[in-house]
Amino acid sequence: LKKKAKGYAKLARPVQQAAVVGAGIMGGGIAYTSAVRGTIVLMKDIAQPALDLGLAEADKLLAKQMEAGRMKAEKAKQVRASIRAQLNFAGFDEADLVVEAIVENLAIKKKVLAEVETLVKPEAIIASNTSSLSIAEMATALQRPQNFVGMHFFNPVPQMPLVEVIRGPATDPVAAATTAGHALAMGKTPILVQDCPGFLVNRIFIPYCLAFLRLVHDGADYQHVDRVMEAFGWPMGPAYLADVVGMDTLVHVLHVIAAGYGARMRPSFPLAVELLVDHKRLGQKSGAGFYRHE
Ligand code: NAD
Repeated sequence: LKKKAKGYAKLARPVQQAAVVGAGIMGGGIAYTSAVRGTIVLMKDIAQPALDLGLAEADKLLAKQMEAGRMKAEKAKQVRASIRAQLNFAGFDEADLVVEAIVENLAIKKKVLAEVETLVKPEAIIASNTSSLSIAEMATALQRPQNFVGMHFFNPVPQMPLVEVIRGPATDPVAAATTAGHALAMGKTPILVQDCPGFLVNRIFIPYCLAFLRLVHDGADYQHVDRVMEAFGWPMGPAYLADVVGMDTLVHVLHVIAAGYGARMRPSFPLAVELLVDHKRLGQKSGAGFYRHE
């Protein structure tokens, strides 16, 4: 996959400076992973606590690298200094690539993307880390849809190698190539995918989750299913994976896939994950999901 990506990334323009809008789980991870690979990253949020959390997560990851002897203190200091956390858009006019990673809400994303477009240089690429919204639809908010692309990372960003690069109908091949090129520079494996509900990975992942939820509905013990899938050789079973992804995110994507593909993807039984959301058991991020997390 990487070899193929290097092929289409030949058209890529260099990304010397990147910016991330939204310093949450994903934005923080994207900023950290770009900075580790030598890119200066502006990380913008609307809330100081979110910026603080993003930076604290970067500190934690850097400390782990140093403890494991994979990074010297000097380099860690340099990485940390290259993440510029801010509540405004200062310096966005210098960015070659802006990755939007704010809440998964079409109206809010359109508003923020349109604002970002007025601040960046004309050739800058704007990418959205949306996991479920249409790139074509988001592009309608922009004057230069040719510079807009999907850049879908997976959680946790520092660990997950794959990045889906999504071309909308207006996306210029150079914009897709530059995005793929930056993903490669971050040490990731980009793949080019179509702008359709679930892109590629969630079209495989969601049917797997539905099969698991059907088993649970039929009376299977989720912990037993997890042990079986681990023995099968997968790094974790579906219940634990749901806890990592986040129950609310998972329910949202389940609905997107059901709406996009109709009856064949629409569950006809109550979903355990919806019950967990009702009980605010969102997974690792809330301290409990299928499992308890200390
Ligand atoms: P999150 O709630 O952890 O972070 C969102 C951040 O955006 C918050 O810090 C919030 O303060 C900030 N924000 C909200 N409005 C803003 C604005 N107008 N300007 C700047 N910052 C703003 O969410 P997340 O899980 O990091 O998800 C972000 C995006 O990534 C969503 O589109 C989501 O669908 C996508 N995504 C999430 C996952 C996942 O597993 N969590 C995986 C892939 C993609």
